[in-house]
Amino acid sequence: MTTPAPGLKVAKFGGTSVADAGQILKVCAIIRMDPSRRIVVVSAPGKRRPGDSKVTDLLIALAERKLAGGSVEAELKAVVERYEAIQREAGVTPDVVREIEADLRRRLAADTGHRGRFLDLLKAAGEDLNARLVTAIFRKQGVDAHYIDLKTAGMLMSDEFGNAMVLPEAYERLKILRDAPGISIIPGFFGYTKAGEVATFPRGGSDITGAIVAAAVKADLYENFTDVDSVFAADPRIIPEARPIELLTYREMRELAYAGFGVFHDEAIVPAVHAGIPICVRNTNRPEAPGTRVVPSRPYKHGQVVGIASSDGFCAVYVDKYLMNREVGFGRRLLQIVEDAGLSYEHAPSGIDNMSVIVREKDFTPEREARMGDRIRTELGADNVEVDRGLAMVMIVGEGMHYTVGVAATATAALAQAGVNLEMLNQGSSEISMMFGVKAMDRKKAVAALYRAFFTEQA
Ligand code: ASP
Repeated sequence: MTTPAPGLKVAKFGGTSVADAGQILKVCAIIRMDPSRRIVVVSAPGKRRPGDSKVTDLLIALAERKLAGGSVEAELKAVVERYEAIQREAGVTPDVVREIEADLRRRLAADTGHRGRFLDLLKAAGEDLNARLVTAIFRKQGVDAHYIDLKTAGMLMSDEFGNAMVLPEAYERLKILRDAPGISIIPGFFGYTKAGEVATFPRGGSDITGAIVAAAVKADLYENFTDVDSVFAADPRIIPEARPIELLTYREMRELAYAGFGVFHDEAIVPAVHAGIPICVRNTNRPEAPGTRVVPSRPYKHGQVVGIASSDGFCAVYVDKYLMNREVGFGRRLLQIVEDAGLSYEHAPSGIDNMSVIVREKDFTPEREARMGDRIRTELGADNVEVDRGLAMVMIVGEGMHYTVGVAATATAALAQAGVNLEMLNQGSSEISMMFGVKAMDRKKAVAALYRAFFTEQA
C-alpha cells in the first residue's frame, strides 16, 4: 500500500506575522500543523504595535544616512536591535545577531555610486536576515528548516532597482525547490539580476515572491498569512459588521483589489493566477479561521454581489463634441493625448457625443491638465472640456452579476435613497463589476447604502 504524496503548500507570512519572537513561534506552530506546508516565504519584521517601525523602513533610513554621509551607527543599531530582541526572546544563540550585524556592515561598505542599487541592497537585508533568523528559530524548535539562498535558487530579476520584475527563466530554476528537503525558508521581496546584484520588487513585494515560488513549484495552494481573518465583503472600517468572504474568483479579487481592497496588492498575485494556483488568505493570529480562498472559478447565484470596494483620488476629464460618434478615430486621438501626457487612464466611459477619461488625481498635475485641455480643444475641436477632481469610485463585484438586469436598479435606487449623487456609472466589459463615480465626500455613504441593499436587505 502506498500513502498518497502530501500536497505542497507555499505559505507566505507578512511583516506583522514575523514582527517578534512570539509571532515567529506562531508561524512555526502553523507550519508544524500541516506537513504539506513545506515552503515558507517571510517578510522582514513589521510593526509590533501601532506607531512601531517596520524593519524595511529602518533599513531605508540607514541607507539614506549612509548616502548622506556621516555616522550610521544610530541607524544601524536600530535595525540590529530589532533582530536582537527576536533572538533573545526566542532563545537562539547570540551568534546569529553577530552575523546579522556583520552582514549589514558588509552591505554598508558596498559601492554607493548607484543610489537605487545601494538602497535595494540594504532594503533586501530585512527579509534576507529575517529568513536566516527564522530558520534558526525553527531549528531550535526541532523543525528541519533550511534557509534558501535566492542567488543559488535562481530568483532572477530585471535590474530596475526598487521596481524590479522577475525574469521568465526564474520559474524554471526555482522549480527545484519542490523537492528540497525539510522546510525551505525563503526571504521575500528581492532577487538577483543577471549580473548578480540584489534588486527588490516594489514595497510589499514579499507577496510577489510567494506567488512566484508557488507558481514555479506548482503548489497545490498558496497561503498568504497576514493579520486579518479574511477578505470582507466591504471595508470593515466603513462597515464594522461586514461579512467575511469564503470564496472569490481571481477576477473578483482583481476587481475588488483594484478599487481599494487592501489585503493583496492585485498585481502581486499575478504569477499564481497565471499558473491557476488557488490562493488562501489567512490569519497568523487565528489559524483556525478558514480565511478566504481565491480560485479560478466558483459556483454563483444570479444577481449575487460578493463584495463592495471603494477608493478615492480619481478625477474625470469630460470631453463633449457634437457628432463625436461619426468621427473616425476620436477616441484614439483623445487617448493619445492622455498617453502623450505620460498618464495611464483607468476607465474611459463614452456616450454618443461625449467621452470621459478617468485618471488618478495624484498624477494629474495642473500643468498636465492645462496642456491636455489645450490640445483637446485645439486638435480635437472639442466643444467643451471639463475636469472634475475629488472623485471616488465605488464598485460592486460578483460573478453572479453577469446578465442580471436587476443589480443596476437595486444599486442606483439604494444610492438615490441615501442622497448620493451619481457622477458616473460604468459597467465593466467583464460584466462582473459595476462602478459608480461619486464625490469623494459621499464615498462612505455610498458603500453603506450598497452594503445595506445587497447584503442586509437581500440576505
Ligand atoms: N518588507 C517589505 C516592505 O515592507 C516587503 C514586504 O513586507 O512584503 O515593503
